[in-house]
Amino acid sequence: MDKVDIFGVKIDNVTMDSALERVASWLSEDKRGRTIYTPNSEIIMAAKKDSEFKELLNSADMTTPDGIGVVKAAAILGTPLPQRVGGFDLTCRVIEYLNENKMSLFILGGKPGVAETAAENLKKQYPDLVIAGTNDGYFKEDDPIVMKVATSAPDYLMICLGAPKQEKFIAAYKDKLNAKVMIGAGGSADVFAGTMARAPEFFIKHNLEWLYRIVKAKRIKRSLSLFAFAGSVFMHRILHGKNK
Ligand code: UDP
Repeated sequence: MDKVDIFGVKIDNVTMDSALERVASWLSEDKRGRTIYTPNSEIIMAAKKDSEFKELLNSADMTTPDGIGVVKAAAILGTPLPQRVGGFDLTCRVIEYLNENKMSLFILGGKPGVAETAAENLKKQYPDLVIAGTNDGYFKEDDPIVMKVATSAPDYLMICLGAPKQEKFIAAYKDKLNAKVMIGAGGSADVFAGTMARAPEFFIKHNLEWLYRIVKAKRIKRSLSLFAFAGSVFMHRILHGKNK
């Protein structure tokens, strides 16, 4: 099965390696405007209630499961996904590839200074990575930003505006941004800049990053959607059985 359906959101049945292969093949082509979204349970819950947002997610060239909740839901619905392919982890692998091939990255998003620091840190670690440009994510008008990105013609564009803003921005401007591949990458710029630490190894290894994030960021309200998501998955399984 190519895609797995979770409440109408179609997730690509990819591993980290096959997702990276797909990105690498897009980067080798002249065509521009490929899009990647990485829905987690919170995004899927939002799409469940908003059919326009669902359509928007489904229009991506690739949609990967960001979060163990999505992988577990797929299994419960009888259409297992091989593994979690998070936006941050995929982006780390893509950046290694960009470095090996002397390709370029544009980072858009985060508070002023975050994208610049992220780019400086990445450049130290990956000397052959080309920084096409950076911009913070608190701009008032879209057009000058779209123009700035387009002029730099990046190979890979990380858009870190938080969901659903970043997905809507990508959908609106994908044909104008002049990037080969673009991804909605949430808080990734913060992590590369060091302004937001990733969960300790223990949590990542045991698939408990979500728990760490809840406790650390006190995001109790937002995290309630995780439980609502789990409840909806079980209800769906009971009422409708497994996915066909
Ligand atoms: N952000 C931004 N512009 C905005 C709103 C948010 O650049 O108008 C940035 C914010 O600074 C953070 C990133 O979006 O760096 C991700 O935010 P959040 O952690 O809320 O998103 P998530 O990844 O959890 O969806």
